[in-house]
Formats: sequence, C-alpha cells, structure tokens
Amino acid sequence: MKRRVYFIEGDGIGREVWAAGRPVLDRAVELAFGDGRGFEWVELLAGKKAFEATGSYLPQETLDTLKTADLAMKGPLETPVGKGFRSLNVTMRQTLDLFACIRPIQYFKGIESPVKHPERVNMVIFRENTEDVYAGIEWQAGSPEARKLISFLRDEMGANVDEQSGIGIKPMTAKGSKRLIRKAIQFALDQRRESVTMAHKGNIMKFTEGAFRNWGYELAAEEFSGVVVREGEECCPPGRVVLQDRIADAMFQEVLIRPEKYDVIATPNLNGDYLSDALAAQVGGLGLAPGVNMSSDLAFFEPTHGTAPTIEGKDLANPGSLILSGALMLEHVGWNEAARKIRSAVELAISEGRVTVDLAGQMAKAKQVGCAEFGQILLA
Ligand code: NAD
Repeated sequence: MKRRVYFIEGDGIGREVWAAGRPVLDRAVELAFGDGRGFEWVELLAGKKAFEATGSYLPQETLDTLKTADLAMKGPLETPVGKGFRSLNVTMRQTLDLFACIRPIQYFKGIESPVKHPERVNMVIFRENTEDVYAGIEWQAGSPEARKLISFLRDEMGANVDEQSGIGIKPMTAKGSKRLIRKAIQFALDQRRESVTMAHKGNIMKFTEGAFRNWGYELAAEEFSGVVVREGEECCPPGRVVLQDRIADAMFQEVLIRPEKYDVIATPNLNGDYLSDALAAQVGGLGLAPGVNMSSDLAFFEPTHGTAPTIEGKDLANPGSLILSGALMLEHVGWNEAARKIRSAVELAISEGRVTVDLAGQMAKAKQVGCAEFGQILLA
C-alpha cells in the first residue's frame, strides 16, 4: 500500500537534508516490511523555489492541495526579517488551522548535554500554534490603526502607551486552548504517560494565559473525569494522568534541573516556541529535533530548525531532524517497525561518533561526516 505524502523541499539547507533524508525513510519501510508498502512523494512548491517558478512564495495551489491532504512534510522556509513579508510558516499554520505543534524531546546516548542526566529527558511538547502574540494582529508605531488604539488605550483605559508605541494583540480562545490541551491529554492517555503540565504566565496575564490554565482544568473535569486527576487531588493509580500547571519561567528552570519530573507539556504559542528550542538543546540541538504540526485533518511533519543560511550548500547540515520527523510520520501511519529502524540507525551512528558538525563539536570522540554521508551511514 502506498501512502501519498505531499512534500515541500524548503529553502537554505532544505534541499540537502531532503536529498540525504528521503532515501532513509523509503529504505526503512522497505527493510521493515518488504511488502510493497511505502510513500508516494508528491512535491508542492513554497519558498524561493515557488517564487522562481510562479512569482509567489506560497502559491494558492499549494495551499489548496494541502487543504485536501492528510499527510505532508516540509523543509525549512525562510522569513526575511523586516521586509514586509508575513512568515510563510505562520501563514500555513493559520490557513490550514494547524493548531498543535508537537515536538518530542528524546535523548540519544553519546551526545554531550548541558543537563546532568540527559538520559532522563523524555518530554513531548504540545504548543498551541495559531493564537497568542503570533496571531499576527499588530500595528506599526505611527500607523493610523496604532494611533487610534493608542488614544483609546491611553485616554480611556489609562494605559502606559504613547504615540511611538507599536501595538500587538494577544488573543487566546477557550476553543483554541481546549483543543490543544485535549490533544495533549489524549496523547498522554494513549501513550501511558504520567502527567500533562500546562506551562503558562497566568500570574501576569490573567485573562489569556491564566484562562488557558483554567480552561485546561475545566476541560479535564468535563471530558476526562475519572481518568485525569488534578495534581495533589488524590494519588494516581496506573492508567490515570495527572494534570498540573506551572508558571512558564519556573518551568524553564524545572525542565533543566528536574527534567525527569515532566512528561507531556501543553503550552500557549510563545512559551512553546521558547521551550521547544531550549529543550532541544538538552538533547543535541536543532539538528536532532523533529516535529509535527497538526490540524484535525492534516499531519504536517517538519524539522524544527530553520534554513541555516550560513551552512547552506556546504554539506554541513544535519539531516537528523528531518529524518526523525519522518520517523514520527511512520509512527503516525502505524509503521512503527520502520520508525524503530530509523531510531536504531541514528543511535548507532551517534554511538560510533559518526555525526555532522553540529554534534561533532559537542562530542568527545567524533569523526565528523557531511550531510550526504550521514544519510549514507543510516542507509547502510
Ligand atoms: P536556524 O535554525 O536556521 O539556525 C540556528 C543555528 O542552528 C545556526 O547556527 C544553524 O547553522 C544551526 N542549524 C540549524 N539547523 C541545522 C542543521 N540541520 N544542521 C546543523 N546546524 C543547524 O535558525 P535562524 O538562523 O534563526 O533562522 C534562519 C531562517 O530560517 C530564518 O529565515 C527563519 O525565519 C527561518 N526559520 C524557519 C523555520 C521553519 O521553516 N520551520 C524555523 C526556524 C527558522
């Protein structure tokens, strides 16, 4: 059986990591099953490649196709800073309603880590992906819209703003928060995880982040009564999940000092962005950090790193993040044996010290290999 996967190559190191990574995914399926199943890869255009071919960075055809898809995978896309471009990633997340960004943080033995016991790190972050300060509702200082809001905020609300203030809005809804937390709880139950921790800044932002926390507890009581218990409420028999919450800044400290105490994390957009990269750094950095963005219909897998422009075209990129995102996709379609093969191959390459430059610098004994060679090692 062939599963169709729409893919976007991406900008910067995108081409290199795809060239190294895609054959590894195909080979893993072949080795695991040998029964003709596999992926049917169909390319969609986005980013510079799309601009050169169509004059648009994100052609409507790409979006329309993705709206009908259930599986897709992308490389990184560049967002030029301060040139009036909206991030293509944010546009796709919002247009396709990819509300959950899910990033597992798993340690591979042999990688140097800034935490004392990286082998205890095994967390999965569920980041809300469409709301919060990333919703794109903001106005430049001096614009007519900002001025209008400023006079209202200053004159009627007594807010500390002046004519030179840029204005941004932080919308967070009950629906958006609950569907994210629901997904995190369901995952924890399915995977027999112990806890879901909501990381928020509700102490400061009561009606947005504080509401996120409250909606989480409300949802647990409404939909998961008996299977999800609130921290401290009662002891937790096997099969039940503890729902707890932490203030986000304390959470950053906690996951560094006591990572073993945390399991599934559900968090609003901005906190999730920071937490995901910080946690990825515990286990080897962005080159080994996979991810998936999900709507209710589409699972859109992607490495968490960007286009890495300074190493583009130099055969230095680590294709690990793309390959491990592929492993997540294999699990998503139920081809777990192929995913296991990929993780074992990555584990073996790391234990032998055959790694790309980003990891070689962090390891005592390493023989640095290029992007293409790393793919070949996994294929062997
Ligand atoms: P980046 O992830 O591209 O790079 C951060 C650092 O990590 C750099 O030192 C880079 O060399 C290194 N790095 C990243 N991926 C690597 C890999 N696979 N192997 C080895 N080293 C790797 O982040 P940035 O520099 O902040 O962003 C560059 C561009 O990428 C920007 O235009 C940004 O908007 C875009 N970006 C896109 C995505 C996405 O498409 N999902 C995510 C993040 C950034």
